[in-house]
Amino acid sequence: MHAPPRARRFVTLVPATFLLAVLFASTAPCRAELLAGVAKVDVTDRKVGPVNDPLYVKALVLKSGETTAVLITVDAVAIGEIGPIKNDYLPTVRSRLEKELGIAPASVLVNASHCHGVVAPDVADRTVEAVRTAANNLVPVRIGVGSGREDRIMQNRRLKLKSGREVDVRHAYALPPDDEVAAVGPVDPEIGVLRLDREDGRTLAVVYNFACHPIQGVPGGANTADLTGFASQVIEDNLGHGAVALFVQGCGGDINPVDYKDFDHPRHGETHGNRLGLSTLAAVRKITCRADDRLTLHSEGLTLPRGDRTERIFSLEAEQKRLLAALKGTTLNLKTFVPLLIKYELAGEFPSADSHRYLHDKALGRDDLTQHDAANRRNLKLYMQNILTMEELTRVQTNLALLRKHQASLVASGKRTVDVEVAALRVGDFTLVTFPGELTVEIGLGIKERSPHKPTFVAGYTNGYIYYAPTAEQLRNVGGAQEDSDCILAPEWQKLFEDCAAALLKRL
Ligand SMILES: [Zn+2]
Repeated sequence: MHAPPRARRFVTLVPATFLLAVLFASTAPCRAELLAGVAKVDVTDRKVGPVNDPLYVKALVLKSGETTAVLITVDAVAIGEIGPIKNDYLPTVRSRLEKELGIAPASVLVNASHCHGVVAPDVADRTVEAVRTAANNLVPVRIGVGSGREDRIMQNRRLKLKSGREVDVRHAYALPPDDEVAAVGPVDPEIGVLRLDREDGRTLAVVYNFACHPIQGVPGGANTADLTGFASQVIEDNLGHGAVALFVQGCGGDINPVDYKDFDHPRHGETHGNRLGLSTLAAVRKITCRADDRLTLHSEGLTLPRGDRTERIFSLEAEQKRLLAALKGTTLNLKTFVPLLIKYELAGEFPSADSHRYLHDKALGRDDLTQHDAANRRNLKLYMQNILTMEELTRVQTNLALLRKHQASLVASGKRTVDVEVAALRVGDFTLVTFPGELTVEIGLGIKERSPHKPTFVAGYTNGYIYYAPTAEQLRNVGGAQEDSDCILAPEWQKLFEDCAAALLKRL
């Protein structure tokens, strides 16, 4: 009996494929190898006050063939411009790494977690120390990429009002009344994870990317790396063997910790941090690491247009005047307003006396109590209106101050553009685009969606700092929220950046 033709073809095919594989393996020049070293150094400023938990600079040095990439993460608000890390930090670190370790400046990425902790003045020295230690301890690694999910710890802080304008949730000013709020913006629950294992299977490092302002703080306001510091600690404690977790802040420009305005309980970054850390670990455990030597890092200078806020400042000044003029004199003051408010909220129809007194008056044809209540209610309403106007003024004035600050810097700079560095990193299947500003979450979601590489992750707060970077659409709201006021960019910036990011991603 002859075997059917199809089966015969199959039988001859298998040995051929097998032979090819053997041939390829024996003639391949060498086994793909990615080397990695990791280190962390405490950068907490212990002279400025009490410390709740340490702040770190962490360095991951990657080497594949002739390519080197260094990823540095630091528990600080920004790389230059604001906070304790000064503008000379990045050039200093880069030139020292080039001189001491032969690492090209363009191979270095530095991401700030954006926590509001205080780092020591010699943070540059300690950064170089971390990279040096990591570079001196390179070992072969196997890598893997995955995505985790965490959607319980953050919220979009931009509130869309029924008027069409947007305000944001800040401690710097009051929220608008509940009945003015129509909708909230999106969040990005994805945790981007790169896992690097030593050859014996022990995890060397975990890089994780997530979008949220780490500004929950700790009771008493002590120095803290905040929720992302706690998350990293949870990951490191669970993995053991000296594994280092490097947090890379994502597009958290308009993302706050949830319960940011909880006035009923002490706020503590550890609660959210534990959740983020455990959700990251769940993703880490699902990743299977394998040999993969792909390592690419491209960076490009990009010139972005600055926004001229003259008109917006004029219109907000007019709004400020209108609000001031809207404050009307009332007979009440705070001392009389508060007890009256409670009484009138509590006692319904009979705020000024027991119900029988009202009934007694009514039986005699008198309405003194009812008239008295009507007058009090009018005064309460007027006083309340003043409070709401005052709250709106706090928002207008805070954002106006930000606009004036950036307008003054625009004039002083003598130019209408700002130069930034955009970078794209590939480590195996892990792809990451970086930008120096505080990207709002929609920008990250859009880049992820359009990227040819799945998954792609996006980091703001990297290699410099240029304040907030909201969408062109969000910039129509200039003066209403922090992200559009604490911003130096013109709306055209978004397309320029997104085109640049797309081109860089294509090259990976
Ligand atoms: Zn911020």
